[in-house]
Amino acid sequence: MIRTRVARVERTTEHFLTVTLTGEELAGLEFLGLDQCTRILFPRPGQDTLNMPATGDDGDANGWVAEFRAMPDDRRPHVRNYTIRRFDPEALELDIEFVAHGDEGPASAWALSARPGDELGLYPEGVYYLPTEGTDWHLLVGDESAVPALLSILEQAPADLRGLAFLEVPSPDDVRPVRAPAGVEVHWLPRTDAHAVPGRLALETVRAAELPEGRPYCFVAGENALPTELRRTLVRERGVPKDDIAFIGYWRHGVEAYP
Ligand SMILES: Cc1cc2nc3c(=O)[nH]c(=O)nc-3n(C[C@H](O)[C@H](O)[C@H](O)COP(=O)(O)OP(=O)(O)OC[C@H]3O[C@@H](n4cnc5c(N)ncnc54)[C@H](O)[C@@H]3O)c2cc1C
Repeated sequence: MIRTRVARVERTTEHFLTVTLTGEELAGLEFLGLDQCTRILFPRPGQDTLNMPATGDDGDANGWVAEFRAMPDDRRPHVRNYTIRRFDPEALELDIEFVAHGDEGPASAWALSARPGDELGLYPEGVYYLPTEGTDWHLLVGDESAVPALLSILEQAPADLRGLAFLEVPSPDDVRPVRAPAGVEVHWLPRTDAHAVPGRLALETVRAAELPEGRPYCFVAGENALPTELRRTLVRERGVPKDDIAFIGYWRHGVEAYP
């Protein structure tokens, strides 16, 4: 468990907010890069301090979960999953890019009103992007919630990586420059229908796409239907071995992540 505070908040593009966190406890972070995720813990409305469970002292890395569940409602923080977008070990700064999807989600609402000095807890976890040996090219697909993970993966990719990346975003104003290897074709997919369920556009686009020959390693993340349905298509219609696909449901349309 790492206690941090907000250093600054920047509007990255129309629907993305970059929150830069700082704090001495970040010196203990084991930074893995790529799509490394972290639980974030933040106060519920009406709570004026961030109550964090201690990490299990009994050697059980998830010991905090039991402690968290046992906390009374008026003390228990909100918890959500986010990607560590950037970490600077010298400056002890860490960025998280929040999709600003309105006030109905507590994490989005928190980010929209975050101010310097606000506290945020982190419980860093691992990566899902684990390319298998012997693949010829990469297929990277996500909706806006996976844009931070996809951009980090592309920025850290080896220079000779070949492949296709599809990044669906809420609007044309969310398209931005990407640092990617020359052999990766990056396709931004801005939605034009404000009521469309995120992920559908990427799903239909990749289903209809002409894909390169050879064996791909696939990483698909976003609203739950995108990774689950695209995985089915890749396995059944494109003959991709299941082990060569990382598919992660980042959120569910119409469903709150945790109570
Ligand atoms: C490993 C992992 C990494 C992730 N990394 C990031 C990241 O870097 N940045 C990021 O923004 N998200 C990321 N997510 C997704 C994020 O955890 C969810 O979007 C989360 O549900 C947001 O919490 P909330 O409190 O805002 O909304 P919730 O309380 O969970 O949901 C409230 C309502 O908002 C809807 N909703 C939730 N998320 C979105 C969304 N993105 N767009 C539109 N509607 C939504 C829900 O369907 C629900 O109706 C990641 C998820 C995982 C599992």
